[in-house]
Amino acid sequence: MTATRIDGKGFAAQMRGRIADQVAALKQEHGITPGLAVVLVGDDPASQIYVRSKHRQTVEAGMQSFEHRLPSDASQSELLALIGRLNADEQVHGILVQLPLPPHIDESEIINAIAVRKDVDGFTVANAGRLATGQRAMVPCTPLGCLMLLRDRLGDLSGKDAVVIGRSNIVGKPMAALLTAENATVTVAHSRTRDLPEVVRRADIVVAAVGLPGMVKGDWIKPGATVIDVGINRTGDGLVGDVDYDSAAQVADAITPVPGGVGPMTIACLLANTLTACCRMNGLGDPEGLTL
Ligand code: NDP
Repeated sequence: MTATRIDGKGFAAQMRGRIADQVAALKQEHGITPGLAVVLVGDDPASQIYVRSKHRQTVEAGMQSFEHRLPSDASQSELLALIGRLNADEQVHGILVQLPLPPHIDESEIINAIAVRKDVDGFTVANAGRLATGQRAMVPCTPLGCLMLLRDRLGDLSGKDAVVIGRSNIVGKPMAALLTAENATVTVAHSRTRDLPEVVRRADIVVAAVGLPGMVKGDWIKPGATVIDVGINRTGDGLVGDVDYDSAAQVADAITPVPGGVGPMTIACLLANTLTACCRMNGLGDPEGLTL
């Protein structure tokens, strides 16, 4: 058996098309243009690439893109002052601080200075708490994209056994919260998990968010499972995921490739969250088909 390749790239392109249509309608009917501000501190090469593609895709969707680049020695108070200005700026509906920040910066204080309604990454304690308690939240983009792919592939997730490998605040924990809200039975695995292959073998849904190239092997996968590979690892062979694609594809029903799976969904969901934030701030209904 060879698994169906879940086309995150194509799904994300369709989503961006729907976003662009709704942005155009918002402009025409209400004279409002959603705006996303991205803050980049320092010159980390991977961050530069992410920020460039976020900018390009924001503009292509018809939104305003505001880029703020600060030197790597920018101070905590300079950054806080910038966030304060962006919080007050009516043209800005979404604020994203590109992580990681330099070590002298208190990342948590910076993230939590972002106005909750503009927190399109969903990383503030307030949004994380809302998600965890089942209230309307800004949902972190990567797990949101994973859930959209899972819903598209499987429909109702009720009663499915899901294993999330990784418990970071940006992927694993919110992914587990989303799957729980979908009535899946969720296990969160991490570096201290005993007999990870055996835990993964129970899963109808596997979400791997670890950062170890090809860690999840085909013989860990339950026949017919759906596998979502969040990992982005730069190796001598190029970009690879956390799942050993070739062996997993022999067993799974469906699997996301790397690249072309979860990655493009993350930026599409960032644009979706920006549009949602803009609609909510203007007292309009949530955009169609872009929220949970
Ligand atoms: P973190 O490093 O923050 O978290 C990694 C998690 O994996 C931790 O919970 C850690 O456990 C767990 N882990 C580490 N080693 C093992 C192991 N041997 N067995 C089981 N669990 C293990 O990573 P992120 O969540 O930020 O990112 C994970 C991956 O996803 C990375 O490859 C990253 O590049 C990618 N990513 C991709 C995105 C996309 O857009 N596609 C967006 C964000 C991330 P413990 O908590 O015990 O240390």
